[in-house]
Amino acid sequence: MSKTEEPNVRHSKVLIIGSGPAGYTAGVYAARAALSPVLVEGPQPGGQLTITTDVENWPGDESVLGPELMARMGEQVRKAGVDVVGDLIVEVDLTAAPFLAIGDGGTRYTADTIVVATGASARWLGLESETAYRGSGVSACATCDGFFYRNRICAVVGGGNTAVEEALYLTNFAEKVYLIHRRDTLRADRTNQARLHANPKIEMIWNAEVAEVLGDTGGVTAVALRDTRDGAISQLPVHGLFVAIGHDPATALFKGQLHMDDEGYILVTPGSTATSVPGVFAAGDVQDKLFRQAVTSAGMGCMAALEAERYLAGHNTHAIAADGADANLLN
Ligand code: FAD
Ligand code: NAP
Repeated sequence: MSKTEEPNVRHSKVLIIGSGPAGYTAGVYAARAALSPVLVEGPQPGGQLTITTDVENWPGDESVLGPELMARMGEQVRKAGVDVVGDLIVEVDLTAAPFLAIGDGGTRYTADTIVVATGASARWLGLESETAYRGSGVSACATCDGFFYRNRICAVVGGGNTAVEEALYLTNFAEKVYLIHRRDTLRADRTNQARLHANPKIEMIWNAEVAEVLGDTGGVTAVALRDTRDGAISQLPVHGLFVAIGHDPATALFKGQLHMDDEGYILVTPGSTATSVPGVFAAGDVQDKLFRQAVTSAGMGCMAALEAERYLAGHNTHAIAADGADANLLN
């Protein structure tokens, strides 16, 4: 019995894994190309923007709530004819077409092409107070939230390139920016370090970690710092705390099947969303550690759907061969 003939199997020409801006955009494009895509929503329907408040850099919306924007995208996707499924993919087999993805309820999704749009998530410090003030003073994205800190005092945690770039970006708005690092040397490259040290608005706080985020009903007011050498506790008044200690792409599912960099981001051909497996495309934060924006993710979702369409047009895949009409159309 072939993969597509087994019971409890849903076959599609395009299977989209993920329902953030990348997955939804891939869905709209694939549906409009008459590819009848199936989109599996995963653990966070709507993706990362569902956990934020104001989004002010999505074209066409001066300001929109993240959950509202994603609900509108979800509605558009459904209206376009995408088969949106509330499931979580727990296993994939990309060794041969048709590819196989297995849902946590046992559904087997076979597909001629796959768009991987499983996103990424920021690493957090793991403090209860950090979680409590997320969205009201604690953020992991200066590009997204820096604008709200005009003439205010911010702190960034971390010592890598991201932390330094977040601190530099925040100086466009904030009156003062502290960069809190747990050691006395930065991991960031020399160019970024030089820019950091040349910026009069930034002050380094070495050998310190955030022990607690302090605040009131209006949001964050300070952070309690622990000296990593002697454990001494001090307080630093700030209005915003930006955590920049790294991100984790949601790629565990694809380990050993798709080529990744050493941080687990899926590698794609430059200028394309093509992965190391022909017919499998990756879009959004799952392959992009540089921009991490809704609009760039959506752009990559568009690219992935167009590339899947072209791939199908040039390949007589299993499902297309079984369907005479499509085979004639596409060959
Ligand atoms: P995500 O949005 O991360 O979506 C990933 C999707 O994959 C989810 O739907 C999830 O359910 C699904 N998934 C994961 N694993 C599986 C699985 N095993 N099976 C099936 N599905 C799976 N960007 C901006 O441009 N402007 C902003 O103002 C802004 N603010 C932000 C505020 C916050 C708090 C955060 C966290 C991010 C913000 N961003 C902002 C960044 C933006 O949200 C991301 O760049 C964007 O959402 C990435 O889109 P994506 O589609 O690649 O992935
Ligand atoms: P990173 O390089 O892994 O740096 C993470 C930083 O966070 C480190 O300084 C680390 O401290 C600190 N950290 C980790 N866990 C912590 C915790 N629990 N508490 C306090 N501090 C903690 O991550 P990144 O900066 O996000 O960069 C990821 C990758 O993207 C890197 O390869 C980076 O070079 C690259 N990148 C490049 C650019 C660029 O080229 N312009 C821009 C952004 C990112 P320690 O140093 O003590 O481990």
